[in-house]
Amino acid sequence: MSWEKIGKEGSLLRWYDVMEADKYEYTVGPAGEQFFNGLKEGKIIGSKCPKCGKIYVPARLYCEDCFVKIDSYVEINKDEAYVDSYTIIYRDDEGNKLDIPVYIALIRFPNTKGGILCYAEGNVRIGGKVKITSFQWPLRVKVE
Ligand SMILES: [Zn+2]
Repeated sequence: MSWEKIGKEGSLLRWYDVMEADKYEYTVGPAGEQFFNGLKEGKIIGSKCPKCGKIYVPARLYCEDCFVKIDSYVEINKDEAYVDSYTIIYRDDEGNKLDIPVYIALIRFPNTKGGILCYAEGNVRIGGKVKITSFQWPLRVKVE
């Protein structure tokens, strides 16, 4: 990382910097840790608001409606996953046409808030029933 300060102390300063984004590591936080540890065991972990009872997937630390901290985690029935929406990618980052288009699906679970982006294959369609075929991040799913 390189820093270059422009200006004088006591007045507005500008920093010119190089973001080395691929070298940073971010912590996932307590709720993210529950979620990712769950994936290692082939489980989908959500968090349940103690006030309103909403269940968030992936697990998160605060209820966005009640503004209360959540420290209760629940296992979600992964067999109930369905495709909420999806997109098809035809080109790579360089704009070259892919031999096989890539399907990215947002999967959700009944009676929960949130969702998970996954690589999808099979009969990908909105409402399609999802089987999680890999719990490695990002998840891979097959749509029946
Ligand atoms: Zn709540």
